[in-house]
Amino acid sequence: MVAWNRNADLSAYNSLGFKVTAERFLQVTEVGQLHDALNEVVENKWPLLIIGGGSNLVLHDELPGAVINVATSGINVLADDEDQAIVEVGAGENWHGFVSHLLEMGLHGLENLALIPGSVGAAPVQNIGAYGVELADCFHSLTAYDRETGELVQISAEQCQFSYRNSIFKSSEKGRYIIWRVRFNLSSIFTPNLSYKGLTDYLSDQGVEHPTAHQVYTAVCEVRKQKLPVPSELGNAGSFFENPVVPEAQFQALKASFPDLVAYADKPGHFKLAAGWMIDKAGWKGYRDGAVGVYEKQALVLVHFGAGSATELLALADRIKASVSEKFNVSLEMEPRIYPHR
Ligand code: FAD
Ligand code: NAP
Repeated sequence: MVAWNRNADLSAYNSLGFKVTAERFLQVTEVGQLHDALNEVVENKWPLLIIGGGSNLVLHDELPGAVINVATSGINVLADDEDQAIVEVGAGENWHGFVSHLLEMGLHGLENLALIPGSVGAAPVQNIGAYGVELADCFHSLTAYDRETGELVQISAEQCQFSYRNSIFKSSEKGRYIIWRVRFNLSSIFTPNLSYKGLTDYLSDQGVEHPTAHQVYTAVCEVRKQKLPVPSELGNAGSFFENPVVPEAQFQALKASFPDLVAYADKPGHFKLAAGWMIDKAGWKGYRDGAVGVYEKQALVLVHFGAGSATELLALADRIKASVSEKFNVSLEMEPRIYPHR
């Protein structure tokens, strides 16, 4: 028998801060436990949500069926060869805690991804990225529970098919794998990635020209704190919409109409439009409608002031989408996953 926690309060797994209850909740650290729980899920045809920190989810108030949190822990160096190391980490470890630990170990590559909320296990799902670095840049491989075979399998970087905020775990193989442990290729030699202006501006204000790993890590944390709301103080799920990548002709036409359009060259023949800029230009920055609104310092972030619901937030998101579509003829896609999907 699986010891489900019935009618569990998910306040600790929900960065938007909505009042959310799971019909059944279980935290797992052993594969046998996961296996038994999944057998019950299948036998009873319960809907299932695998949850990490709940920082990329929009949760409705009552979650039917089962919710499982993978709580595997530990950070271990598997191989250490001259200036390279392979480090394995449990899916249940906190992402920022892991990045901070690597800094202490003198292992580099993930500094620009400091302070991203959530768990290590969720990080490959959308190939988390920030300030010009993405998880894929340092990813080695992972171990996941395959729900089709009921066994642990090893999945390589190539098999993950990482792309911009995407992987097989979010697309072609959605729901199949439960990520158990993740391995990274890291280096004892630090090579800074200073491709983002926000970061270089901060460092030059500090008089730093050739930053150390610690200085880049600190700069990322400080810049993020200045611009992004802390979920424990103001509910949010980070960027609410993806930055649309459009063909060059569409970018040129938009640029002609909006000369101050913020966009960056992307894959050949394509440009990435800053969705936050478009939402701001459509007049939404700082907007509030009751319990929900648009963050005053970054229009890409929708916020929950308290006592609101996913339904209210999604209604606001729909209004923003419609307004951006009308002004720019660009369709915005939501980044966080809505659950249950209604
Ligand atoms: P959850 O929200 O719990 O889950 C996200 C998805 O992953 C769900 O589909 C879930 O089913 C799945 N999942 C979770 N764990 C597992 C597992 N073990 N196996 C299989 N599937 C699993 N994202 C960025 O990319 N860059 C940023 O800079 C960034 N900044 C953010 C800032 C703020 C303030 C906030 C609130 C969010 C930000 N995010 C950012 C989004 C979010 O932090 C990341 O997507 C993060 O990886 C989500 O982790 P989580 O553990 O909270 O996942
Ligand atoms: P920012 O630095 O003000 O940049 C605005 C947008 O322009 C970003 O979305 C970024 O795209 C893009 N951009 C900026 N400089 C770029 C460059 N040199 N090359 C290519 N694209 C560039 O953004 P911000 O809101 O303060 O966020 C900082 C970083 O943290 C960004 O990378 C952002 O993605 C990440 N972040 C992500 C989330 C999330 O939930 N997904 C939440 C908060 C912050 P990219 O988004 O593609 O980087």
